[in-house]
Amino acid sequence: MNPAQGHVLDPGLVEAATTWEQKRTVTREDLAPWADVGLFGLTVPTVYGGAGRTLAQAVRVHRAVAAVSPSLHSLLVVHGMVLHALYRWGSASLRSEVLPCMASGSRLGAFAVTEQESGADLTAVRTRIEPAEGAVLVTGEKRWITFGAIADVVMVLGRGSLGTTCVLVPAGSGQRTRPEPLGVGLPAAGLTAIEFSATRVPAHLVLARPGFGLPVAVSCLDHGRLFVAAGALGVAGAALELAADHAAHTRRGEVRLGEHQLVRALLADASVLLSGATALVEEAASALDTRDPQGTLLAARAKLLASRAARAATDAAGQVLGAVGLVEGHRLTRWSGAARAYQVIEGPTEVLQDLVGGALVRSAGHAAAGAGSAG
Ligand SMILES: Cc1cc2nc3c(=O)[nH]c(=O)nc-3n(C[C@H](O)[C@H](O)[C@H](O)COP(=O)(O)OP(=O)(O)OC[C@H]3O[C@@H](n4cnc5c(N)ncnc54)[C@H](O)[C@@H]3O)c2cc1C
Repeated sequence: MNPAQGHVLDPGLVEAATTWEQKRTVTREDLAPWADVGLFGLTVPTVYGGAGRTLAQAVRVHRAVAAVSPSLHSLLVVHGMVLHALYRWGSASLRSEVLPCMASGSRLGAFAVTEQESGADLTAVRTRIEPAEGAVLVTGEKRWITFGAIADVVMVLGRGSLGTTCVLVPAGSGQRTRPEPLGVGLPAAGLTAIEFSATRVPAHLVLARPGFGLPVAVSCLDHGRLFVAAGALGVAGAALELAADHAAHTRRGEVRLGEHQLVRALLADASVLLSGATALVEEAASALDTRDPQGTLLAARAKLLASRAARAATDAAGQVLGAVGLVEGHRLTRWSGAARAYQVIEGPTEVLQDLVGGALVRSAGHAAAGAGSAG
């Protein structure tokens, strides 16, 4: 089935993608068949050549893709974040110019906020973006950029005399890239450091306006968190299915592994986390679809729980499979690595806890203040 229409993936595509994690690379040629079935324009309106799906529909595709290739899924995440930025914050002419080729997958997007000194804190970015006669000049270095070397356009967050700014930097504008390969995590995600030295970018490629970069980047992160959460569901579901199957069919002596209560407990805990996280992902997707002001918080909650579910399910599967799951190249290793990465990317677990817990404290504070004034 066409991924743009549902969440059952073509077996031929699945078979090809399962080898990418072992090769530790995904090339443009590898991606072509996925582009042909509309994977890169899922949520782009049909008027711009996309599939016009809601986020609630798109997360099912994200879930299915991550279960097959977490690295391909990570490309869908960042590409989708740039598409969101363009659609929400780009000018009408910029949308018409860029969205159709990105929706078709003939141009790929990357999302560059992280720096050596800023990490998870977007407000600490040091990359300079300064206006310069019909253009902006970008200077600085971005780290750990997913598919940064093969992307055709990189959305960069920086700051300058007007405040924070997001700009789309086309590949070949003079920036330099170097690979930053991961040992664990998403080995085929093509992580790249990108260095900008007074890189000149036409002013019409600034999103929203100079000085408004932080709201643009934060709204992209809402979508990124939702997509990562959906990917985490895919990884959790795949690992749990593997573990349950192994427990049901593996005998040690006269006893099947799945007859041990402690093995069942591992599966049970992971499965209820997965069900809870699935509900939160659906809730967050609907909120972001309707631009509900609670969307940011709901996306953070969904990503917090879904990444935990992925970690719990892959840990449980690792335990139930024993030595088999540790063999080099076993499919569980790619899900376990992805689960670790999900607890770091698009807001580490502790940053999300701070956001979610902070909202609870604020709301309790308002309630107490309200009660005080009423009394
Ligand atoms: C596979 C992968 C793909 C990535 N792709 C991209 C990409 O495409 N674009 C991009 O811009 N970046 C990308 N990154 C970078 C990623 O966004 C950062 O790793 C992430 O934001 C965390 O930053 P950091 O690693 O510098 O950790 P740090 O910010 O140094 O944080 C390290 C740890 O400190 C703790 N911590 C940090 N801040 C807080 C806080 N406020 N409260 C409590 N605890 C805190 C957390 O435990 C956190 O895990 C990618 C990273 C990985 C691993």
